[in-house]
Amino acid sequence: MRYAEVIVNSPVAQRRTFSYAIPSGLTVSEGQAVLVPFGEKILQGIVMELSRYPAVEDTREIIGVIEPEPLLSPSYISLARWISEYYLSPLFSAVALMLPPGFERKAVTILGVAAGETSGLSLSGEQRRVLDLVGQGSVESRKLERALGKKKAQTVVSQMVRQGLLVRSYEMETVRVRPKKELYISLAGGGGENSKLAVKQAALVAFLRERATPVSWTEARKQTGCSKATADALLRKGLVAFQQVDVKREPISYDDIELSHPLKLTAAQQSAFDSIKSGLRQMVRGNTSPGVFLLHGVTGSGKTEVYLQALAEAVSLGKRGIVLVPEIALTPQTIERFASRFPHRVAVFHSKLSLGEQYDEWHRIKNGEFDVVIGSRSAVFTPQPDLGLIIIDEEYEWTYKQDTSPHYHARDVAVKLAESAGAAVVLGSATPDVGTFYKAHNGDYKLLTLQERVVPSEGAAMPRVEIVDMRDELKAGNRSIFSRSLAEAVNEAIADREQVILFLNRRGGATFVQCRRCGFVLRCRRCDVPLTHHISGDMLICHQCNYKIPVPQVCPNCSSRQMKFLGIGTQKVEQEAGYTFPRARKIRWDSDVTGSKSSHEDILRKFRSHEADILIGTQMVAKGLDIPSVTLVGVISADTSLNLPDFRAGERTFQILSQVAGRAGRGIAGGRVIIQTFSPEHYAIQAAARHDYAAFYEQEITYRRQLHNPPFTQLARLVYAHTNDSLCQREAARMKNLIIEEMDTRGTGGVSLIGPAPAYIPRLRGRYRWQLLLRGSELSAFLSPVPFPRGWTIDIDPVSLVQ
Ligand code: ADP
Ligand code: ZN
Ligand code: ZN
Repeated sequence: MRYAEVIVNSPVAQRRTFSYAIPSGLTVSEGQAVLVPFGEKILQGIVMELSRYPAVEDTREIIGVIEPEPLLSPSYISLARWISEYYLSPLFSAVALMLPPGFERKAVTILGVAAGETSGLSLSGEQRRVLDLVGQGSVESRKLERALGKKKAQTVVSQMVRQGLLVRSYEMETVRVRPKKELYISLAGGGGENSKLAVKQAALVAFLRERATPVSWTEARKQTGCSKATADALLRKGLVAFQQVDVKREPISYDDIELSHPLKLTAAQQSAFDSIKSGLRQMVRGNTSPGVFLLHGVTGSGKTEVYLQALAEAVSLGKRGIVLVPEIALTPQTIERFASRFPHRVAVFHSKLSLGEQYDEWHRIKNGEFDVVIGSRSAVFTPQPDLGLIIIDEEYEWTYKQDTSPHYHARDVAVKLAESAGAAVVLGSATPDVGTFYKAHNGDYKLLTLQERVVPSEGAAMPRVEIVDMRDELKAGNRSIFSRSLAEAVNEAIADREQVILFLNRRGGATFVQCRRCGFVLRCRRCDVPLTHHISGDMLICHQCNYKIPVPQVCPNCSSRQMKFLGIGTQKVEQEAGYTFPRARKIRWDSDVTGSKSSHEDILRKFRSHEADILIGTQMVAKGLDIPSVTLVGVISADTSLNLPDFRAGERTFQILSQVAGRAGRGIAGGRVIIQTFSPEHYAIQAAARHDYAAFYEQEITYRRQLHNPPFTQLARLVYAHTNDSLCQREAARMKNLIIEEMDTRGTGGVSLIGPAPAYIPRLRGRYRWQLLLRGSELSAFLSPVPFPRGWTIDIDPVSLVQ
């Protein structure tokens, strides 16, 4: 007898596997998806390990395999174990990250008649009824339950199975994902020539006659401007027909993509590329792990070209790659750069694809149809065979950290995966995470540097950056949100027919509304945060839960009519820009821009083709835009992230300012950046203005060392949420004592605990939140045996303390 350690899809399982016997005749491998009995239920499970001895005496048997091929390779099995142990998440949740989209389904019980004669047997009325319902074939047990009632059906069926009258088997529920279909319209019959048609109807018929073959209805509607009612009228007359046609889901359209060829590398690019190349070659030759490279290069220094050539090298060695980019940078422009170098060999994978698209891509990736998978953090889990290279662009980005359990960081996952798969990792950024750079500095990662921009003309270098002290503006009597320098620079740029980006990392109009008389601030009913005023629609909106109310006429507290709108967001910038630069054409880009993916693309296309002079936006404008005619970038306020109570405030500010500044001067005309701030002497702002990562890093790492912050220590953030505030506080206090006891009994030194204290957002969606912050090393191992009841969230290595 052989046994399997199986992780099951049940909340009971947590971080444990269960032993099952493998029945003779069934072939089961590691990584295989199976069906197993679990209590009264039949559950999906994944085989994590095979063994000759079970972990417990009493084992039940595996019922069957769900798919003939194992779903997880050995490297992914060990990766899932690591995620569960390190991030303290249930093992099945970790495994689920790597399973095909739509995998999680319920098992359905099927009942069939056993062979043999039943007519002579004495059967009860209910048994007869069941046999009638089953008929000659088989039925789902659900059908019997509907007919007889759940309890009754189960008892009768169990009886009949024991008596050998029925046989039970199990199947998975049908997949929710179906082939994609589209509605097509075509002409039907021939007649109707002489019947009288309305103008619109006649136009549609004429259009279809011209096309001869069926046309997608979306296209027909677009071309003719006809409504569905018009088409339906023709359908009733028998003049047209509709049909559903299967279409292939293809996230990349290659229609407008031209093949691109490797560029001749600059000396700096060449030396970075050579290091990666020799790492890859050694890996293939000697099966040594090539380790992690940090490609540190200013924006526009040609990092992407290095990625492309490194990928080509991996492919030439018989390997494949995964490229992660921040969600926000996953634009058609980015995808195109990869797709044009590896035509028809690039898969796209991210959570914004429909389930069907994800399902198709996942299976095609597993079949080895692609050299490169490009996507957001979840793409690190796609089953890319022969994995040789993982590239993470802008590795410091927050979007690589998952904000639900398991709270994994895609960069750390990639490094783990590469270790067990024997692949190389390239982390790229202009402003690396301080922890990442520390590792490179210490020699754990190999540091590759691109110091200069690759520019189309000689002489154009990094843009000039000017810091404007907004306190001086106030002193000089300028109360506008635009300093005199910025206003002048915008006017000049517009006059020269150049383009401008205005950046503010906050959306909405006013960021809070306060009563002038009593000081009352309007807050969300469910979250303890001020409501933001949105100019379009004149609404107050909660940025945490999207709760919306119209602006009240009077103060809810004192009935005064004097409500003051304070703070600025991008909508306010747009409005003010309207007054200050009346002749410039403006366009706004932030996550309030409603509608589909395409409206975002529309905005970019408009700006790119110079249908607007000024682009106003949040961090979305800071990422990956490469528009040569942008010569001026104005930062309306550098202070939005600077004063947050988070030890990473300086790092965030430096990163975002460097990113935005990198949008200017990508063309021959050169560029200029103006940063407005009330803290002009702050080291993060000063260093960003000088494009000086080294200076920023020196200062930052000194502070981190002095204050015992990461990378010199590890953090874990534990948050308990409950609708009752005092109960919530008590539970946090109880957990604190439990953890202190744990430290005493285990004699753990070096772990310190802060709190309990209300979280930065003390109430969210109606639930109060209290937090404990742990500081120390090997916190996962320390916390592992501590029992956390429901309601606790454990975040190992949190990227933000202001959530
Ligand atoms: P990064 O990824 O570091 O921001 P990019 O790869 O976007 O930089 O490069 C900036 C610009 O320089 C792009 O337009 C790119 O096509 C161009 N470029 C990169 N490498 C070279 C090269 N070796 N020769 C000529 N142009 C290059
Ligand atoms: Zn009031
Ligand atoms: Zn809210």
